[in-house]
Amino acid sequence: MPRQGSRISLILAFVFPAIVAATLALSTYGFRYARSASERSKASLMDGNRQLAQALAGSIQQRIDTADFELFKQIEWEDGDRDPPSDVELPKGVESVAILDKDLRIRSIVPSSPSVSTPAGDPKRRGRELERWQNYVRGLDWKSLQPWTPAQPGNFRHLHQLFEGRSVLIAYAAKESESGERYFVAARMNLTLIAREWLPEEVRELGGDRKIAILDEVARPVFGQPVSQRDQRFLYETSFGKTLYAWRIQTLPKNVEELQAQAETERLLGVLLIPVSTLIIGVGLAIVLLSVAAERRTSRMKSEFIANVSHELKTPLSLIRMFGELLATGKHKGAESGKEYAEIITREAERLSHLIDNVLDFARIERGKASYDFAEGQLDDVIERALDLARYRVEKEKMRLRTEIQPGLPPVRMDENAMTLVLLNLVDNAVKYAADGKEIDVRLYRTPGGVTLSVRDRGPGIPLEEQPRIFERFYRARTARDRNVRGSGIGLALVKHIVEAHGGRLSVDSAPGQGATFTVALPAAPVTAASADPAAAATPPPVGVTPPPIQVEAPLPAGPMVKR
Ligand code: ADP
Repeated sequence: MPRQGSRISLILAFVFPAIVAATLALSTYGFRYARSASERSKASLMDGNRQLAQALAGSIQQRIDTADFELFKQIEWEDGDRDPPSDVELPKGVESVAILDKDLRIRSIVPSSPSVSTPAGDPKRRGRELERWQNYVRGLDWKSLQPWTPAQPGNFRHLHQLFEGRSVLIAYAAKESESGERYFVAARMNLTLIAREWLPEEVRELGGDRKIAILDEVARPVFGQPVSQRDQRFLYETSFGKTLYAWRIQTLPKNVEELQAQAETERLLGVLLIPVSTLIIGVGLAIVLLSVAAERRTSRMKSEFIANVSHELKTPLSLIRMFGELLATGKHKGAESGKEYAEIITREAERLSHLIDNVLDFARIERGKASYDFAEGQLDDVIERALDLARYRVEKEKMRLRTEIQPGLPPVRMDENAMTLVLLNLVDNAVKYAADGKEIDVRLYRTPGGVTLSVRDRGPGIPLEEQPRIFERFYRARTARDRNVRGSGIGLALVKHIVEAHGGRLSVDSAPGQGATFTVALPAAPVTAASADPAAAATPPPVGVTPPPIQVEAPLPAGPMVKR
């Protein structure tokens, strides 16, 4: 059957890349969709712009064409030997008309009323107008013209260009008299009227939600305001129809600021969407991976713990059983060995109960149900009694237990059983891991504001990098595992919890090959009226409440250390 861990790894190996791939695909698809939607809406916006420009150019062209039609229809020059008509009433939109004979000589300009051949009026002005017209007609493509008739109203042409820095639109056509003689008519359109009257009228007529500007040959505004560089993105610009082809028309939605902001948001989204979502998912996956790894480590440690505890229970139990049976069957040699067997049974039973105490206390801590029976007392008394319990085991391992207890230590608020467990665990570890060192030093002495207990061995020590971890539950240092020393990995976690619940601090000082010193610093009991009152002192504080350490030492007699 595959192990749970490898099944999880397999799932992670497939599921995580799948999640990453799906996220990438989703964000790419989302981004593409958003971009194509925005392109579509921009295209429809531009379409609206284009339609408006075409409609406006079309209606202006229509009005110009109508004026031209009326003009060409109205002018009739039947007799080439006489002057052409000069009493023509110009249709609205036509500024000036020139009539030319078959040799393209200007024969009449309207309105300048008198004919060119019999000049009258202001000769200077007339001369200028004639000069202008001569300039215009020179650039016209007369040869391509077919005779204009009302039945052929399209037989005329336009010229739109700058003359003397002024935009000029000329409409010109060839006509024939009834006798078949050809003559020509050219009309200059009134562009000022077109810009000031026709354009506003047509724009009003078309209405809509767009800004319109019309620029001349050198980009001077003829109508409206030219578009700023900033709004170029939504601008539609094209030549202003077939007639006024030298002008350009610009159309732009009125809510361009809003569209601009929307486009900017889309751009930002485009830039940030994929990297940010990938980053978030990456971080999320990393967190999940780390917590899965931590969970797996804890569950591995738990199963190791169960195996270790079972093993630790099994050894003393088999010894108790074996020596119990020997005693029961009377197979021992004499009273001496009977006593020895009974001692072994007692010792192993003590070990068992120590282990079970550890496990039960640990389980209580894990469930958050740890409770301590705090009372003010002398730590030296508690440590002395605990040492009596530990001494047998130390001596059995052929080790020397040296103790140094300073007399006159201040009282400490503590749970006596818990403090016994602290010492037994520390000494037990020294016996287990440092038996080669042969010596264990237990010292109890006064420090500013409290009492300190230290347990020192001369064993292999603990590597620096593992020191912070040995206080974690279930953690067992590599050396312990390599040397096959029995243990459950909960002893120091328990000690740390107890010490901290007493408002103290547990630390280790060790260098490989130099042994290890575990130090427990506890605060002295506060000297208050309550502590002077025995009834109040007997009441334990609520669980988890740490008695505050006092900084001022109680005046206690200092004395020499008692060595054993
Ligand atoms: P256990 O002894 O049951 O493994 P502990 O919580 O008491 O669990 O100790 C955690 C680890 O700390 C041990 O596995 C061991 O590696 C290391 N350790 C504790 N005390 C000593 C010591 N005196 N010398 C060397 N290593 C020690």
